[in-house]
Amino acid sequence: MIESLSSDAPVFEAVQPPRRILLGPGPSPVDDRVLRAMSAPLVGHLDPIFLETMDEVQSMLRYVFETNNRVTIPISGTGSAGMESTVANLLEPEEEALICINGYFGERMSDMVSRLGARPVRVECEWGSTLDLDKVRTAFKKSSARVIFAVQAETSTGVLQQLAPLREIADERDGLLLVDAVTSLGAHSVGADRVGIDACYSGTQKAISCPPGLAPVTFSERSVEKIRSRKVPCSSWYLDLSLLLNYWGKERVYHHTAPISMVYALHEALRIITEEGLEARARRHELNHRAFVAGIEAMGLSMQVAKGERLWTLNTVRVPDGVDELRIRKQLLEEFNIEIGGGLGVFKGRVWRVGLMGAGSIENNVLLLLAGLEKALADASFKVSGSGVSAAAAVYSQQKSKDGTA
Ligand SMILES: *Cc1c(COP(=O)(O)O)cnc(C)c1O
Repeated sequence: MIESLSSDAPVFEAVQPPRRILLGPGPSPVDDRVLRAMSAPLVGHLDPIFLETMDEVQSMLRYVFETNNRVTIPISGTGSAGMESTVANLLEPEEEALICINGYFGERMSDMVSRLGARPVRVECEWGSTLDLDKVRTAFKKSSARVIFAVQAETSTGVLQQLAPLREIADERDGLLLVDAVTSLGAHSVGADRVGIDACYSGTQKAISCPPGLAPVTFSERSVEKIRSRKVPCSSWYLDLSLLLNYWGKERVYHHTAPISMVYALHEALRIITEEGLEARARRHELNHRAFVAGIEAMGLSMQVAKGERLWTLNTVRVPDGVDELRIRKQLLEEFNIEIGGGLGVFKGRVWRVGLMGAGSIENNVLLLLAGLEKALADASFKVSGSGVSAAAAVYSQQKSKDGTA
């Protein structure tokens, strides 16, 4: 009898979450194969079987990042841990870093850089557009920065940023290019080696379609050189790459206990990606995005981002005047079991964010969401101008006859 405890132990039911259709900004739907992998028996984090799994995860991550970088590992933690690991390792105190900001995640990076005691040189561009490259170039020249950071897939706005022009700007002064690929990796090509990205991070729960909990990262040889020649040790013990690599490298020295079940999950999610192939996966994401946009426009709604600058993975739809955006989202969840996201920052209340990522990017989801949206809008007395479902279905049948699969 423990006398100090006055009441009985609390008793709760086991969690029984519903199977939602996750079409928000993340997490994305996860294949049952991945969930099953998570329930496999635990082995030790230095068990030979687990070490083999780690090697395979690294090989498959190199494939999705499109890189030969030796230093390619999953960091324990969500995408933000990957984000913090790049700057914590690559920036010294007081060092300037050019931070391109055209959405919420650029802001987050600027905050992280300040907290690390480095100096963000903020290049603020319009939310919902790609970066103003002249502004980036001018700011880079004026600063002492040797690092440029940009977000490839801005999940807060739905904008896809081309990386090659940023590489060119960085090359004007032998700079490193750091890229956030959280919502692109596994859908849009990242091409780390082709583009010449020096450090890139992602998260497992967006286009990789795995639960949240790991952050794949890759570092170029140039980055590793910079880390090796640091004057001051990385301020984060947990994210210090030079320590982490003793575990993920040949030495296999204990640093922190790897989240075993998450590594199993990522292994299976990456196997699914390699089975499909990156190119086929990109085509699938592009097609479902295109069908969704056709549906949205047929209904008389409009996309926030200009054509040609849109992500396939994250679609921002303008909320029509007089419509309560939260009420529509609630109805989609309650009546259709579908989750979509609301706007962030300057887009709060103004857009819906529709994620079509990984296992979520399928024809059925697009058609169901358009049908649900049409019903919810009708209930909110908004008259749609045409059938979203028919317009999307037409895109699919066109594609099928083109592919000869109709
Ligand atoms: C989701 C996201 C992050 C942060 O990832 P978390 O897993 O939420 O920590 C960073 N950058 C972008 C672009 C994201 O979409």
